[in-house]
Amino acid sequence: MSELQSNGHPGLIDPTTISGPIPPAFSLTANNLDKVIKYKHNAEGQNSVVAREKLPRGSHICYINTYTPTPQSTWSSIQTSKTTHIEVLSGIVYINHSCSPSIDIEVYPPNSEGVYVNGTCGELRVVADRDLEAGEELTFFYPSTEYISPRPFTCLCGAESGVCIGKQEGAHFLANSILEKYFLNTHIKELIAERDNKAKV
Ligand SMILES: [Zn+2]
Repeated sequence: MSELQSNGHPGLIDPTTISGPIPPAFSLTANNLDKVIKYKHNAEGQNSVVAREKLPRGSHICYINTYTPTPQSTWSSIQTSKTTHIEVLSGIVYINHSCSPSIDIEVYPPNSEGVYVNGTCGELRVVADRDLEAGEELTFFYPSTEYISPRPFTCLCGAESGVCIGKQEGAHFLANSILEKYFLNTHIKELIAERDNKAKV
């Protein structure tokens, strides 16, 4: 089997380089996800992640504890502070972006020694304002973790006009009137405040 673009993840294939179904790179036993989620192929054959059971709004889904730090952001990484990023080594990597997300990802930044306390760098929770239904796709708002995405894309989330941001490039490119509708991680709030202060000078 030829090795397609993997960009930091052994075995993880960039979905934009393929056509047709590809098996997920990670077993759902990685990060103990097999009890809470399962994989689903979308119409284009790409992988997504759906809930096994209904979970109430705001509830804990799992912590992120299988990952590797990466020096800079990639198409598949998650930003964990102003300056740090991780590659998730589990099915969490297949959670797609939506402008009407079903979950929030709260990241836990590394401490001053660069260490993630208890080996945990984040938590997945059902969004605060609606339940996650059995079989529903898990999606999160990528700008809630990513300040500048290295690979912008046109959003196909299907949220209604005025809700879908149209192009996902990271929080830096979004107006506060949009950002304030979403759960945002602390580093994103701080970076947006810095952006706005610079604009005033
Ligand atoms: Zn959208």
